[in-house]
Amino acid sequence: MFNTGKELLELCKEKNRKISEIVIEREMEHNKMSFDELMDKMKLVLDTMLKSAHSGLDKEIISVSKLSGGNAKKLEDYKNSGRTICGDLINSAMAKALSTSEVNASMGKIVAAPTAGASGIVPSALITVKEKFNLTEENMIHGLFTAGGIGEIIAKNATISGAEGGCQAECGAASAMAAAAVVEMAGGDVEASLNAASFALTNVMGLVCDPVAGLVEFPCALRNASGVINALLSADLAMAGIKSLIPFDEVVEAMYMVGKAMPESLKETALGGVAATPTGEEFKRRVL
Ligand code: SF4
Repeated sequence: MFNTGKELLELCKEKNRKISEIVIEREMEHNKMSFDELMDKMKLVLDTMLKSAHSGLDKEIISVSKLSGGNAKKLEDYKNSGRTICGDLINSAMAKALSTSEVNASMGKIVAAPTAGASGIVPSALITVKEKFNLTEENMIHGLFTAGGIGEIIAKNATISGAEGGCQAECGAASAMAAAAVVEMAGGDVEASLNAASFALTNVMGLVCDPVAGLVEFPCALRNASGVINALLSADLAMAGIKSLIPFDEVVEAMYMVGKAMPESLKETALGGVAATPTGEEFKRRVL
């Protein structure tokens, strides 16, 4: 059992296990499931993630409100033009994150990871690293358990809700989960996973939640696109051996304190940030 990053690290060291293995053992015990049953269950989660991350790449998915959509396809087409600034990997990762966000805004099926608003980040990061290193589906499933372990620590000690902590708690948490997972998938150790998660949260500390018209569309989809890149760059920083000056648990605590200090107008009320701009207000009137 673990409640903090420190406890998770100690458990991994004591048992000589990866984060995913510790989480899998705990889940088997908690849910009274065999290893195969648990893997089969997570495979269903992965299948839904894969579908949502790809379905917006070759056809436009428009939101129920008609406020947004079609951007995953736009970005995928742009990537395929071969004339991007950031290259294929980054643009492909962003397109997949946008795709899941668009599926969510069109009331399609996604996996909240940790929330629906931030659901594009974990799938896209895992797919990107799987493709980059030619990994297996089993590696991705293990990555999901690692992501789950990190998300659980953030939820236990802080929050994963935009209404409580701003977007740093939603997209920030998703990036931290994804960063830790892809470090493990790429062969990094437990310390590197926790460092990557710390970087991802630190990079977006203070990020407000300001959905235009109160809909989880804009700037949510954009923050899924930037969130997956945050996860990937945080993972690379950690894999290079760079360490977080502040331990993961303290970063989580700091994120929570920042969330508490945020005014209500910046916590999913659509009363601040880009939601409260004249154009944001105009969209709100139109939608309502
Ligand atoms: S802006 Fe708010 S609603 Fe949108 S993804 Fe971030 S936390 Fe969720």
